[in-house]
Amino acid sequence: MSLKDAYNGEPHFPSRALISRSAFEHNLSKARELAGEAQIMAVIKADAYGHGAEKIGEWALDAGVEWLAVAQLGEAIALRKALHERGRMLALIAEPGAPFWEALELGIDLSVGASWALDEIAFAANESGIRARVHIEVDTGMARGGFSLAELPDIIPMIAEYAQSGLIETVGLWSHLALADDLQSPETQRQTEDFERACELFADAGIDIEFHHLAASGGLLWHPRTRFSMVRTGIMLYGLSPAPEIATAEEMGLEPVMRLEADLVSVRDVPAGTGVSYGHTATTQEPMRLGTVPLGYADGIPRHASNSVEVVIGGQRHGLIGRVCMDQFVVAAPGAVAGDTVTLFGASASGFPTADDWAQHCDTIGYEIVSRLGTRVPRYFVD
Ligand SMILES: *Cc1c(COP(=O)(O)O)cnc(C)c1O
Repeated sequence: MSLKDAYNGEPHFPSRALISRSAFEHNLSKARELAGEAQIMAVIKADAYGHGAEKIGEWALDAGVEWLAVAQLGEAIALRKALHERGRMLALIAEPGAPFWEALELGIDLSVGASWALDEIAFAANESGIRARVHIEVDTGMARGGFSLAELPDIIPMIAEYAQSGLIETVGLWSHLALADDLQSPETQRQTEDFERACELFADAGIDIEFHHLAASGGLLWHPRTRFSMVRTGIMLYGLSPAPEIATAEEMGLEPVMRLEADLVSVRDVPAGTGVSYGHTATTQEPMRLGTVPLGYADGIPRHASNSVEVVIGGQRHGLIGRVCMDQFVVAAPGAVAGDTVTLFGASASGFPTADDWAQHCDTIGYEIVSRLGTRVPRYFVD
């Protein structure tokens, strides 16, 4: 599809995120190579980390991925409908009183990490006559969700009873690594051993579980023992590194899926000594041309990028000058004219800064750079 075709029918806006299908498929094949026998669960929470979950979900399913995961049950309900109930979808999070009955009717797999959830889901299964497919969450070190190992001896008989009565099917057992991005820490090994202990406790109780899943991208990439029978990959499918200080996306052969660009809305030639943007935190040292980029912190451009990151105009890198505003920021733009394309980030192979580069400048992670990209920036899906 040409860019022009991709733009057809899209809302008018002076910036855009180009989302590359071929890059996504490339990253997926990398993940599959590493995963070996383990299934890939493509994590498309938070609108596929800002990339557009409907399309990314569709691309993943078309490429033969069987499992999708989202965070909130509400995301799962919306996406499950949008994707016509194709494949399998796990909702990682639900709150008391959540519409579990609707989840069951839509065939959504549910995570269970507390006894209230077990009871509510079994109740919904009983009411609807649909057996609930659940993935039991065990807390091995995140302290944010799941049954502790100490609780399991009391919980397992309850689970066994619900399973025997046909209200639930125990499809999965899962946990999440806290330090997969730290190759020195013994914590990942300890968590893995605890996870294996949890698996044994279920096996000893005669509860069959098809999928054991512990690894996200970091585990898949750097801790082979954490792969088990399924891996929940998010960030690497979008072509970013879970920890660029260990290995950059480029070093791992991943291709960024998102390229963020905008049209310069104005340029001006200013003399030396010109204060730029709010607070005049920058002053020009020499006469220069400035360009105005129509993206701001309301679109997810971090205010921490002020006076720090670089963008590309006409193949040249130019620094951001002064503070990022709500809808705009100013860059050095020698030789540029209004309407010129500014690329904020994309693939390093194409000479662009990456979202991981932005993250480094802004004291955050690439996950945050892409997932906070605002909803008013249109996404264009390209080959
Ligand atoms: C977000 C998330 C993932 C995916 O993590 P990545 O680092 O993006 O691969 C996997 N599992 C859980 C529980 C998550 O919350």
